[in-house]
Amino acid sequence: MTTPLRLRAIALFALPVLACAVPDVPVQRPAPAPAALRDATERAIERAVDGRNTDALALLERLVNINSGTMNFAGVRQVGAVLRAELDALGFTTRWVDGAEFGRAGHLVAERAGTGPRLLLIGHLDTVFEPTSPCQRFERLSDTTARGPGIIDMKGGDVIIVHALKALRAAGALERMTITIVMNGDEEHAGEPQAAARRALIEAANGAAAAIGFEDGDGDPRTANIARRGAASWTLRSTGTPAHSSQIFHDDVGAGAIFEAARVLDAFRARLAGQPHLTFNPGVALGGTSVTLDAPQNQGSVSGKTNVVAKEAVVQGDLRTLSPEQLAKAKAVMREIVARPLPHTTSAIEFDDGYPPMAPTDGNRRLLALYDAVSRDLGLGPVTADDPWKAGAADVSFVAGLVPMALDGVGLAGRDDHTDKETADLRMLPALTKRAAILLYRLSQSGQRPL
Ligand SMILES: [Zn+2]
Repeated sequence: MTTPLRLRAIALFALPVLACAVPDVPVQRPAPAPAALRDATERAIERAVDGRNTDALALLERLVNINSGTMNFAGVRQVGAVLRAELDALGFTTRWVDGAEFGRAGHLVAERAGTGPRLLLIGHLDTVFEPTSPCQRFERLSDTTARGPGIIDMKGGDVIIVHALKALRAAGALERMTITIVMNGDEEHAGEPQAAARRALIEAANGAAAAIGFEDGDGDPRTANIARRGAASWTLRSTGTPAHSSQIFHDDVGAGAIFEAARVLDAFRARLAGQPHLTFNPGVALGGTSVTLDAPQNQGSVSGKTNVVAKEAVVQGDLRTLSPEQLAKAKAVMREIVARPLPHTTSAIEFDDGYPPMAPTDGNRRLLALYDAVSRDLGLGPVTADDPWKAGAADVSFVAGLVPMALDGVGLAGRDDHTDKETADLRMLPALTKRAAILLYRLSQSGQRPL
């Protein structure tokens, strides 16, 4: 933002949509290595996953073929009903959390109690593909790939959850496990108020030893997420003293609202740009004599004249950070800048914390190390931490700060999620299901031996 004229024009740029992930690397096979599972139960889990792969693929196809765009409430509920029946059959106590309070379909919550530490598994039922999207059906592209709406984001992850649990049951390991599963119906377009929309998820984190999100991550099975940047937003409102433009900067007129907003934005850039993992982007700016902003839609209208000092300016932007501390510091700097307006102007800023950051904690690293060990023991190669620059906000972020360990991005591998080319690598379905099941098994044993 360099000149007031730019601000005066209606400048509407859509704020970035919260994306679960944007895969930008081709899927590659982990290097094969000799398997070294630890006990007969782990080997039984591995066999059980292989024995049910055809069923897992059929469930994936069935789920993908039900449209569950976030605002298609009937479809979201239908996907929830299919998964609920699967979890009922596994002995879980399931319930549907109605979404009327937050303007969405609702969420599926499933629980079972055993003697092991409580583990929270996170899926979601909705996709970005509404019924109006041309992308509606599961389409087999080859022996090893299939395309479809939500196939990796994240119906594939939901199938991995269900089939990991089936394998654990077949191996006799599920009985002692304590598990809560939350599959939200509005991950892609969260309901409001957010406190109501995420209440079930946050409650489920209470007392959990670990939270695991089965998003597709960056699509590469060699990485998982121990950190995700949060996505907050802000609105800056500046005012000026309207007067004939010939009097601008006079002692009794001042600089006007647009110069004031420009001052604030440029100071944000000067003070905050370039910090690791911190970004902030003014995406919509309106300024003139009169401004109308439809904030939820990120659009508005403005009128003004070149010969009148601007009376109002409004700017909407986002603010992405890697930790709650970084978010708090950035907000403090922004407030400090806003608090020093130019003469005869005012500025005020409001923040909406949106999706919180998932910070890269030692606990998260420990959980990744366990997952990495499972992958190596299965002969599936190492798993390393994904670069948080690539990871958008996701539901795991709401609970990451509430549990000792959190991990995300362990869902089905593939590419091009949120596009009509969303494609799954079907070869990875059994591999990733084994990884998940054995990770859960080892976590459930943590009271009996060191992790
Ligand atoms: Zn997702």
